[in-house]
Amino acid sequence: MKCLIDRLRQNHELEPEGIRALLTMRDSQDLEYLISQAREVSQRQFGRGIYLRGLIELSNVCRNDCLYCGIRRSNGHVPRYTLTRDQVMACCEQGYQLGFRTFVMQGGEWGEERSQWIADIISDIRQTWPDCAITLSLGEHPRETYELWHRAGADRYLLRHETHNERLYSLLHPASMTIVHRLQCLDWLKETGYQVGAGIMVGAPFQTLSSIVEDIQYLISFKPHMIGIGPFIPQHDTPFGRFPAGSVDMTARLYAILRLALPQALIPSTTAMATLSPDGRLRGILAGANVVMPNLSPKDSRAFYALYDNKAALGAESAQGIKALTDELATIGYHIDWSRGDHPSRTV
Ligand code: SAH
Repeated sequence: MKCLIDRLRQNHELEPEGIRALLTMRDSQDLEYLISQAREVSQRQFGRGIYLRGLIELSNVCRNDCLYCGIRRSNGHVPRYTLTRDQVMACCEQGYQLGFRTFVMQGGEWGEERSQWIADIISDIRQTWPDCAITLSLGEHPRETYELWHRAGADRYLLRHETHNERLYSLLHPASMTIVHRLQCLDWLKETGYQVGAGIMVGAPFQTLSSIVEDIQYLISFKPHMIGIGPFIPQHDTPFGRFPAGSVDMTARLYAILRLALPQALIPSTTAMATLSPDGRLRGILAGANVVMPNLSPKDSRAFYALYDNKAALGAESAQGIKALTDELATIGYHIDWSRGDHPSRTV
């Protein structure tokens, strides 16, 4: 096993059987070796600093109907909201005062008639805080829309591919969505000049070991700048509401494998990790993650952005929230890195 891990660290790739072996190995010393190698690579690249991204949950209105997601169109139990431009700017202002230099606008997927409205908000943020990075996570759109938002000032785009396996993709999504189109969008985003993030949910219903191997191979070949991976967590008003949640351990193992494969990638220890386990966020960092995404959304809309049940919201909207995070990171010898935190190949 150590040979495999060393080879992955050295060559940044591994044959499918090797990846499968790393996903199934059970010896605790082997596992510890994998995790500690990933941690070392992460520290060599980023030190013990953790980048922050301020998450602004723009809207829970969505035209899509992904079977796992609590804000899917068919969920009639969730009150719908969309932040106003002024609310978004107030979130950024508050975040900027606290020291945030990246804002992430995430939300349900809208039709193109609203794309200009979003472009206008992006321009406002860009002009008001020229030193900040703007990340979008707003789903699938035509290439022209991605270009419009990029011209308006957006730098990065998160679009998890969710699974590279065609059959599994079709079990998780309505028939109108295809993996071919999802991957097309990721290619467009890269060609447009964004720093791009892809990724999956760990433990999604019907997921198999082979499908995870396929995902890792895809990520190694696509080389995203960012990798968004978190455990699946059921949301009670969705068709998958009774499926079990994914595992924190397996998610941390994936962070470690991907850290060795893509040493420079920006890998958040995701909110879903913190939701499933009190020390989930720290375990992700100790396995090679180097980003945390605290929530900057207005408090009264947070409950409605219910992608899954019991979603944790790290209260970073106040100085106390940042202090709590600082203290949490200090327990493992880490600290907040307040810089913009671009991908090393794209430092501006
Ligand atoms: N509409 C945007 C943003 C979706 S929410 C888009 O399509 O990209 C961001 C991510 O949350 C999704 O990509 C998905 O991987 C994750 N997510 C959604 N439902 C989830 C659930 N029940 N458990 C864990 N993660 C979930």
